[in-house]
Amino acid sequence: MKINDFPEPIRDHMIPSPSGDMVYRCLTCETEHDSGKLLYTCPRCGGVLLLHNKNSETIESTPGNQWREIFDYRRMLNIPALKGIFRYYEFIAPIIPLDKIVYLGEGHTPMIAANKRLTDMMGVRFYFKNDGLNPSASFKDRGMACALSYINHMAAANNLDRILAICASTGDTSASAALYAAYLEESVASAVLLPKGKVTPQQLSQPLGSGAVVIQIPGVFDDCMKVVEELAETYHVALLNSKNSWRILGQESFSYEICQDFDYEVADKAILVPIGNAGNITAIMSGFIKFYRAGLIENLPKIVGVQSSHADPVFRYYSDDSPERVFKPVSVRPSVAQAAMIGNPVSMPRVVNLAEEYNKLAGKRRVFVVQVTEQEIMDAMITANRNGNIACTQGGESMAGLAAATTRGIIDPEDIAVLDSTAHALKFSMFQDMYFSGRFDPAFEVTPDSSLKNEPVDVVPEGLKAYPAPGSPLDGELLQEFVKATADRVAGLLKLSPKS
Ligand SMILES: *Cc1c(COP(=O)(O)O)cnc(C)c1O
Ligand SMILES: [Zn+2]
Repeated sequence: MKINDFPEPIRDHMIPSPSGDMVYRCLTCETEHDSGKLLYTCPRCGGVLLLHNKNSETIESTPGNQWREIFDYRRMLNIPALKGIFRYYEFIAPIIPLDKIVYLGEGHTPMIAANKRLTDMMGVRFYFKNDGLNPSASFKDRGMACALSYINHMAAANNLDRILAICASTGDTSASAALYAAYLEESVASAVLLPKGKVTPQQLSQPLGSGAVVIQIPGVFDDCMKVVEELAETYHVALLNSKNSWRILGQESFSYEICQDFDYEVADKAILVPIGNAGNITAIMSGFIKFYRAGLIENLPKIVGVQSSHADPVFRYYSDDSPERVFKPVSVRPSVAQAAMIGNPVSMPRVVNLAEEYNKLAGKRRVFVVQVTEQEIMDAMITANRNGNIACTQGGESMAGLAAATTRGIIDPEDIAVLDSTAHALKFSMFQDMYFSGRFDPAFEVTPDSSLKNEPVDVVPEGLKAYPAPGSPLDGELLQEFVKATADRVAGLLKLSPKS
C-alpha cells in the first residue's frame, strides 16, 4: 500500500526516522558507553554489554494499542528496509538510517501448528516457528541483519573502507555473517573460524560459497571463540559473535513476531528454545520484556531453555537452588544439536540478569531450563519431520524440551507452545543419515528406533537383456521389457492391486 493510502492518523508513524540515543550498558559495573563505536566488552571492567535506547520518549509517548496498530499497518508497507526485522524499527536500533538497513529477506518466519497426531503424542498444542526459513537457513540472520546494518551505517558515517568482520561459529553464524558481508561487497569482508570437523558439510559450504575466508582450527567452538576474542582485543576487526550486542537487538524480532502473530495475546504461551551460546534466549527474554514494558502485551509468556545433557552448563546452573550458586562451564561431549554444543556460553551474565528481571516483572517464575538426552533430541526431530515439519536437530531439541517441560509440570495442558526450530532440517541431514543407516558414533549415545528408520530401496529386476544407464538409454523392445519388469517389482513392493 502506498503511504498516502494509509489512514491519516497512522500515516506519520509508518516510515520511522532515527530518534534513538543508543548506549552500551555494562552488566557488571553498569557503566554506559557511547554506541558510536563497536564494543564487545566493557572497556572498564571487561563485562558483557547490552544496548539500551536512552531516548525512550518515542516509545513511552505512544500507547501500546497504537504500537500494535503501527506494526499491523506496517505489514502492508512496500519498503524493503521495513519488511524484515526492522518492521519493529523503534524497538530494535532506531539510530540506523533506513537507507543503511540491509534486508535479505530475514524474519517473519511462519509458525506452523503441529498436526493432530503430533499434538496427541505431546499432549499439548504447539507450533514450530521455522527460523530455518531465513535467508541463510537459521535464526542467526535476524541478528546479522542488525549487526551488518549498524556496520554499514558506521562505515558510511566515518568514511571507513573495507571493514574485516570475523566470527567463531558452530556453523550457522559463519554462514549468516558471510552472506550479509558478501552483499555489502566493497565495505565489508568476512573471515570465519570453525572447529574442524564440527560443522556439517552444508554449513561449511555456505561461507565458502559467499566468498569468506574460512579458517578451520582444532578443538571445539569454545576454542574458536577464545581465538576470535583475542583477535578482536588486539587487532582492527569487527566481531560478529553474539557478544556483539547489535546481534541481540536483531534477534529480539523473534519475540515481536510471536506477539504480533498471536494478536498480542501471549499469557498462555510457552516459548521453547535451545541454548548454546545463550544469545538467542537472551534476545527472546529481552524482546518480550520490551513489548511488555511498552504495553503491547499484558503478560509475559513462559520461556523454557533446552540443553542436551552433553552440553548443559545453563541447566546445571539453574538446577542449583542455593543463593550462592556460581556458574561453572562444562566441557562438551559430541551432540547432534551441534549448533548448541557450547560449554561456556558468552551470554550467561545476560541470561542471569534478564531471567531475574523477567521473573520479577511477571511476579512469578516464568523462565525455566530443562535438560534432554541426545536420544530424545534425535527421536523428536525424526518424529517431527515425519509429521510434515522441517525441524533441524536443535528444533528436535525444542520438541524434546516440550516433553520434558510437560512432564515436569512447567507447561500445563492448556498452554500453547511455540518451538524454535532454529535452522533448516537440510543443514543437519547428516544426523538423519546416521540415524537411518545406523552409523552413529557411540559417543553420541543414540540408538536408532527401528520403527522410525527410513532408507532407499534398490529395485533392479533380474535377468533382463539390458539396463538403462546415463548416456546409454534403452529403446524399443528393450525399454518396454525394462519398464514392465521394474513396474511389476515396484507394484509388488508397494502391494498395489491391479485395476480390473
Ligand atoms: C546458534 C544456534 C543455536 C544456539 O543459539 P545461541 O544463541 O548460541 O544460544 C541453536 N540452533 C542453531 C541452529 C544455531 O545456529
Ligand atoms: Zn563494566
